[in-house]
Amino acid sequence: MWQYFMPTKILFSQKVIEKNKEIFKKFGKKTLIITGKTSSRINGSLRDVEDALRSLSIEYYIYDKIDENPTFEHIRQAVKECRIHDFDFVIGVGGGSPLDSAKAIAVLLKNKSLSVEDLYDATKYDSSLPIIAIPTTSGTGSEVTQYSVLTDDTGFKRGFAHDVIFPIIALIDPLYTVSMSVSLTRSTGLDALCHAVEGFLSKRSTPISDLYAVEAMKMIKENLPRVLQNQNDLEARTAMSFASCLAGMVISQTSTTLAHVLGYPLSTFKGIRHGDATAAFLDAVVQGAQSEVPQKVNVVKEIFGDIRDFITASGLQIKLRIDDEELEGWVKRALTAKHMQWTRGSFDESSIKKLYERMRSN
Ligand code: NAP
Ligand code: FE
Repeated sequence: MWQYFMPTKILFSQKVIEKNKEIFKKFGKKTLIITGKTSSRINGSLRDVEDALRSLSIEYYIYDKIDENPTFEHIRQAVKECRIHDFDFVIGVGGGSPLDSAKAIAVLLKNKSLSVEDLYDATKYDSSLPIIAIPTTSGTGSEVTQYSVLTDDTGFKRGFAHDVIFPIIALIDPLYTVSMSVSLTRSTGLDALCHAVEGFLSKRSTPISDLYAVEAMKMIKENLPRVLQNQNDLEARTAMSFASCLAGMVISQTSTTLAHVLGYPLSTFKGIRHGDATAAFLDAVVQGAQSEVPQKVNVVKEIFGDIRDFITASGLQIKLRIDDEELEGWVKRALTAKHMQWTRGSFDESSIKKLYERMRSN
């Protein structure tokens, strides 16, 4: 038995907003734009949204204080500031952080009695303001997922999932990604790679998610080195935006697995970008799957050779000082993570500890 559900309408093109601005009209007269601090003003995405809304006489309010790895407290502040208005819909513009924040805020504006913690109990709500997602990175695939990943009050990243936070529309314009630096290009590209590989090897993979995963892997193999070499290579940027979207559609069916679980604390406690932190453990996902699904592991090997070499060639190297106590905490946390149940292979306290030890400089 398998199923497929991904209700987001995808519009993909250069100048996608300009070409489709009428699309905002049916969602109402007043909207909230959620974005980060600077990049959406530089890459043109915010200007394009504002131009479209102005031409349609849709009133808008911009909330532009979203940081990387958004926390519960960020969301509480945003909701407090935005609740004084009555919005018809929410537009998220930026990387995964603004898009995930837009999802949380859209639910909390619609369901005024809920707290951020309540987002994690899917039985407590069944509605959200409509969400339009405009990604400016090519990595998270958040524009086509039912997930939002926030950092809780203890500093750990936790995702919540609900069908009502699938964006109603994803407007994807690869031109917005051209302004990404080499390091951001690598980290986001590696995130998409992890989604494709983890999803492909997940115990929840399906025939449709596998089709998307294989295609995404091939596109990333071909195009990530190209965009790292030349950030203005629009053909390769377009392929990476497409691959990231496909890989997002993969995890919308399969969720993520071990590499995401182990990578989260590196982002929140050590400041390592999400895709870099996750990719540091991707080889373990492939190795873990070897005995259970050898044919699938062969597919990954046929595309990448040794996945660790591909990741290293992208320039990723992580060396960190990690205290013993800190390490124990991360390992304990990983062992109880929900996503471990969909990870193939057997990972226990000692094998997880070894994976963290590899990147230890002390
Ligand atoms: P991000 O955290 O949204 O942004 C990282 C940095 O990139 C920010 O400084 C941002 O600037 C900048 N930036 C964004 N677009 C840019 C552009 N076009 N040019 C130059 N700089 C740009 O990065 P992300 O990797 O896209 O998102 C990571 C987050 O997504 C993590 O919190 C992760 O846990 C989450 N995630 C979610 C899902 C999901 O399914 N929902 C899946 C994977 C990961 P500003 O600060 O100015 O915005
Ligand atoms: Fe991710």
